Amino acid sequence: MAILEVLKFPDPRLRKKCKAVDSVTPELQTLATDMLETMYSFRGIGLAAAQIDRQVRLIVLDTRRPEGDDKDAQDELGGETELERAVTQPLRLFNPVIKKKEGKISYNEGCLSVPTYFEMVERAKYIEVEALDENGETIALKTDGLLSICIQHEIDHLDGKLFIDRLSPIKSQRVKAKIKKFGYPKPEDQDDEITETEEAADTQHRL
Ligand code: ZN
Repeated sequence: MAILEVLKFPDPRLRKKCKAVDSVTPELQTLATDMLETMYSFRGIGLAAAQIDRQVRLIVLDTRRPEGDDKDAQDELGGETELERAVTQPLRLFNPVIKKKEGKISYNEGCLSVPTYFEMVERAKYIEVEALDENGETIALKTDGLLSICIQHEIDHLDGKLFIDRLSPIKSQRVKAKIKKFGYPKPEDQDDEITETEEAADTQHRL
């Protein structure tokens, strides 16, 4: 297993379009496992191959939240939905395609490629997705809640798109200009694993 480097905006490599995989090879299975390891190490809930400079249509996700009174279970979405709970996670999805979208939901999104920034983004509330799983089998899943938001965010990455592209034009421009001018706060911490203190202070999800 390996922790991979996560590209940060404005790295132009994040804009490359990813290609569908022909088959799920052992190399791609290892890549998916390394991506999950990387995602967990930075306390993310989703990661797309584009973010680690591999232009293949692969996303990994784990949006499970602890049950009970834990603060993470009481996020702004009200915790996991029935549909989310019915999906076995973590997910390794190759060639994911959204077959159906319904409704609208807004959520304060963050991203491992745009660290420390969180902005409200509107997406479809309910989605149906087809993909290949880690064994190369075709699977279909339906979900809403945080998992739906996260899948849509990660598929955007495969198309070279970031959540900060989905803000109003003025806001999008302002955020991008700010990052280009000032970079990210405490850059020396951003490449390291998230510390316990940061974890305790952080209730937002990085997608
Ligand atoms: Zn992201």
